[in-house]
Formats: sequence, C-alpha cells, structure tokens
Amino acid sequence: MQKLEVLEKVFGFSTFRAFQEEAVDTILSGRDLLMILPTGGGKSLCYQLPSLLMDGVTVVISPLIALMQDQVRGLGENAIAAATINSDMSDEERMRVFEGLKKGEIKLLYVAPERLGANGFIPFLQSLNINFFVIDEAHCVSEWGHEFRADYRRLGILKEQFPDTPVAAFTATATPKVEADMIEALRLNDPVRIRAKVLRKNLTICTQKRVSNGRTQLLNFLERHKNQSGIVYTFTRKEAEQLATFLQSRHISARAYHARLEPEEKAEVMKAFMRDQIDIVVATIAFGMGIDKSNIRFVVHTSLPKTIENYYQEIGRAGRDGLESETLLLYTKADEIQKRELIDGALSEAYKEVLYAKLQSMYRFALSSACKHRLLAVYFGDEGEDCGDKCESCLRGEVAQQDITKEAQMFLSAIYRTGERFGQNHIIDVLRGSQAQNILKFGHDRLTVFGIGEGRNKNEWGMIADRLFELEAIALGEHRALKLMPKAAAILKGEEHVEIDEDKLGHIRRVKITEDHEERDENFEAFRVLRMKLAAEADLPAYMVFSDKTLHAMASRLPQSREEMLQISGIGEVKYGRYGEAFLELCRELGGK
Ligand code: ADP
Repeated sequence: MQKLEVLEKVFGFSTFRAFQEEAVDTILSGRDLLMILPTGGGKSLCYQLPSLLMDGVTVVISPLIALMQDQVRGLGENAIAAATINSDMSDEERMRVFEGLKKGEIKLLYVAPERLGANGFIPFLQSLNINFFVIDEAHCVSEWGHEFRADYRRLGILKEQFPDTPVAAFTATATPKVEADMIEALRLNDPVRIRAKVLRKNLTICTQKRVSNGRTQLLNFLERHKNQSGIVYTFTRKEAEQLATFLQSRHISARAYHARLEPEEKAEVMKAFMRDQIDIVVATIAFGMGIDKSNIRFVVHTSLPKTIENYYQEIGRAGRDGLESETLLLYTKADEIQKRELIDGALSEAYKEVLYAKLQSMYRFALSSACKHRLLAVYFGDEGEDCGDKCESCLRGEVAQQDITKEAQMFLSAIYRTGERFGQNHIIDVLRGSQAQNILKFGHDRLTVFGIGEGRNKNEWGMIADRLFELEAIALGEHRALKLMPKAAAILKGEEHVEIDEDKLGHIRRVKITEDHEERDENFEAFRVLRMKLAAEADLPAYMVFSDKTLHAMASRLPQSREEMLQISGIGEVKYGRYGEAFLELCRELGGK
C-alpha cells in the first residue's frame, strides 16, 4: 500500500496535516528526524504510518505507562498490532509479547526508557528486525526543559548499540537550547529538523487577575462551556477538593483528582472523564501527564503555574482534535510570591536562579498586554506574530490608557519612606491610612505619605503595584519587602510617566469572547450520547470511538449510507466495521425527520 492509501484506509484521514508528510518521508528515507510539533499536531501518525509501510518492528520510547497503554489501545482500534512491555504486566503477559515480537507479529512496541537498562533487553532487541526507534516526549532529555528524566539522558545508548538504525525524536515544545540538547544527548546523526510554529490557532488564551477566590470568574467562564469536557487546575489538593464540591453544588458535573486519592478512585475518575461521563476534572498538576483525550474543550488554571513550559503543556491538553478550545489563567501577585518561596526551599543556587527566571517569565506573561500567542512563540524561540483574535490581548484591541503617574509616585514614596523594608500589603495600608497595629507600631501613621492614597481601594493599589512590577520600577527583596529599582527614580522625578490599561482599574477585566466559537449543532448532543454509550460498552475512552471532529461532521452531514459515512474524516474501514452501523442508524433517524 502507498502512503495515502494507508492514511485513508487505516487511519480514515483524507489528507496529511502540515508537516506530517515531510516527517513520514524522512523516516521512510532512513534518516534521523527531530520533530517539534505542538500538542495535537498529530505526531503519532508521523511514525505509525511509516511503521506500517516498513518491514520489522518500530520501538517507541515513551515516558509513561498510561500514555503507552493509551496508544496501544488506540492502535488496536485501527487494527494495528501494537504492544507494550512494562512493569505493570505479569510475567506471562510479557512472555506473550516477547513471543509475538519474535514471530514478527507486532508492528509497534512501546517501552519506557528504564526498560533499556533491564537485564538482557538490549540483546533481545538486537535479535529483532527493528526498522527505526521513536523517542516520544524527547524534551525529557534536557535539564533546561521541563520534566527532565535521567533515564532519557541515557538514551544515547541506542545509537551506540544500534548504529545503523534511524532514530526519530518528537516533542511538542523545545527552546533552542533544549533542541540542541536533544540532538546531542540522543546522538542524532545530521537529523532532518522539522519545527512547526508554536502557535496553536484553535486555542483562545486568556489571563485575568483573580478577584477574591476567583469563583465568580470561573462560573462565568463555565457558563460558556456547558456539557463540555475540561480541566480546572488548582495549586493544592485541598483546593481541588473544595472547588469540585463547590461546582457540584452548582450542578456542574465535576470530580476532584490529585495524588493522594486512592488508586481505585483515581482510576475511576480518569475512566469516567475519558468516557465523557463527567465533564470537568478539578485537579492538581498530578493530573494530565499522559492524558490523550482529544476532545478537551477548555483548561483553566486557578493560580499561576511555575513555568511557561508547564503552562503551555497544560493548556495544550485542550483542543488536540483541532476544534476551537479556550483557556483561562487566573493569577495574582500573591501566587508569584508563594511559588518563589517554594523555590527558596531547596536545590542548588544555580538551579534556583533558573527557576526564579522561569517564574518571572510566567508572571510577566500573565500580566502582559501583548499578544499571548506571540509571547509564547518568542519564549520558545519562534518568530512571533500577533494572533489577531485568539487571545485576550488581541481581542481587547487597543485599550485606552489611564495616566497613573501620581499614584505610582505615591506608592514609590511610601516604599522609600518606610526604608524598603515592608511588603506590598503594608505599603498599601500606609497609603490608605490604616490603623493596623503594625502601622502604629512602626510610627508609619506619622509619615507624610500616610493616608494619601485613600481614594483607591486595595484591589486598585494591587493593580498599580503589578504595573510597577511589570515596568521593573520595583522588585521583591528579602522577606518579600518591596525595593526600588533604578526606574523608580525617574518616575519619582517625573521624568517618566506611568500608564495602565484603563479597564484594569476600578472593575474586573472581562473579555467578550465571541459567543460559541463553533456552531454547536443540535444533533451533536445525540451523537455524543451514543458515543458515550458505545465507549462504555467497549471500555474505551470516548474520543477513541470517534473524535469530536468526526462527530461534528457526522452531525452536520448526516450520512445515509456506508459510502457516505466512509467519506467523513476519521472513519476508516475498521472503525466503520465496529461502530458504523450504530451511528448510521442514528443518522437515518435524524435525517428522516
Ligand atoms: P500529538 O501527539 O501531536 O499531540 P496526536 O498524535 O495525539 O497529536 O493527534 C492529535 C489528533 O489529531 C488525534 O485525534 C488524531 O487522530 C488527529 N489527526 C492526526 N493526523 C490527522 C490527519 N492527517 N487528519 C486528521 N486528523 C488527524
């Protein structure tokens, strides 16, 4: 079979997505490959398809058992022989896989990097006919990325032990530094490099300053996403539990997920989520690694993540199927301070500096009025362009500016007059003329700046402080004390003016996102319910039955025959054989109206 035939018959797609064909051709030509393609770009197909066209077995190194099992099941759905060998399996199960490999019955073998160190495993692999190796999530080789894994570092052994076998490495994100690390650590031999743009056009990115505990903002957001799958990330386990309970009390289908749950409960939540039986998982970042659910329509962060790498990966879990999805980040300055303290706790000085810098970048990203997609692209070493209408900054367009030089001067003077030894809340208390004990104790009620800022409330002063941080007029010193930076002098002297987006002061920022990104066709719900039922029967994640995209196409076209059904993207012959009839029946019912 030819490439396109396999694409259509086995995977049910009529065309390649951007960069896929180039990657497939590279692998077929026998060269090493390094591919950086955003989440949802379709990396798996880039190696699964050539594997089917080549003799021998493809060995895929993947970091997580859950991820491997998912892939193997997904391939099974398309009748492709795939297997994994992992520590969760019994000896018998493992023996069966070894036998299958020896007989050449398996096309794709998924293993974790540790496996290569297991006794006798490399010699066993050497006895097989391996067409090429795949390194999934290849950024794990680098200390400069995220999720560094020592076992990944040692994957250079592949080129040593299998000098003639090509290696194809894949990742969703890599700064230029991480890219160089991957090539070096994996000893790739003059690889073809494919680097897609970081831009995820189907994600709308919003950041908002969190007001109080953020629940009103969250409910407003969820209002637009009824009956849709989503993840809400919280910082602590307790918050995850409390927020899930709160959402349940509002009749929103949500469950909590975190590392401390009993394994059975974790599995149950995961399963129900995958099958679309619950809409929302409220989770700590323990949730998500290895989640491949393609129809996640939104991701919310209720506090500031530690790095842009983490953030980009977490929001990347939305919209893998390419359909419109939305992300919301709620943050405050306090988050940044809290996370800074966590970094203070441990590790070497040098590593601390790296983490501080990353946290700073994350905070600036949240604050910035520049295009969010552009900021992400630049961070990851891409050339950035403004997205136009897919982030909060661009959607708001030109925002009127308000001059706050006077307030900025008050704030800076208060820091100066109190000796750069106090934190933000104390400074605001001084400005607002508070009678708090600490103010009186230090005699700050006698300062000339005492009470001069009464006209603005605490939130507004917080916004002004944020703006001064953003402009680098102030910074955090020891024990969270605010200190003045060189720019502060220029502002105090009136040489520089300070402006802030007008809508940031006085009320909550609220962006109007165009209602309903996608036209939610009436029929879709009926298809979703049928899919849920079939997924439960087959014990599969819902999206593995058919993706949201496929369901939307079915719902709008209502195919009335097998032939019409097969023309829909995502429906190959094998899938049709399994689920086609059931859906066809529904189409006929709906079409006959
Ligand atoms: P990644 O690993 O890059 O995050 P996946 O391999 O999980 O992405 O693919 C994301 C989604 O895109 C999957 O639902 C997959 O079926 C779909 N997909 C992949 N290639 C194509 C294609 N050529 N046409 C349509 N859909 C595709």
